[in-house]
Amino acid sequence: MKDKIAENTAVNFKDYIAKEEILASRLKEYNIGVADPMIFFFNRLATFTKWPFKQGSCTGEHMAYAGYYCVQDDCAKCIYCIKELDGWEETDDPWEEHKSHKTDCPLVRMNKRNVIAMDLSEIVMLNQVVMKNKLMDQFRKSREELTQAFEDKRKEIQMRLKK
Ligand SMILES: [Zn+2]
Repeated sequence: MKDKIAENTAVNFKDYIAKEEILASRLKEYNIGVADPMIFFFNRLATFTKWPFKQGSCTGEHMAYAGYYCVQDDCAKCIYCIKELDGWEETDDPWEEHKSHKTDCPLVRMNKRNVIAMDLSEIVMLNQVVMKNKLMDQFRKSREELTQAFEDKRKEIQMRLKK
């Protein structure tokens, strides 16, 4: 609780965006590919333009800072644990909700929301989580297509070996 209040009041979101943008360009320079633009707060924040709460603890800023981006209406999704939550209320604390709904979220486990405060290995780890999520999602969506592709490849290799 103490940590939550301290971190929320300490964050100047405009400064934070400036720092994140610098970090984003540095990662590009180091050739560290970002798995999803939603890894960055400033991109998540941009999804909350129609978010119903402009005041209180559940604003778009606090949602984005807790790892969420807006899917639609009052539905938001965490970029890391891909948990979707709706029915938010003005007095909700997004980080507390995140912690109570998804204890195995890598961001929650790390207990850090601020990518600026992370070291490079933590950023790379989170990036890998997002990459894995995307792959899993694609796998689910195109399971049959993939099965067929594997089968075709198997036959192709078999033919190659026969020659
Ligand atoms: Zn999460």
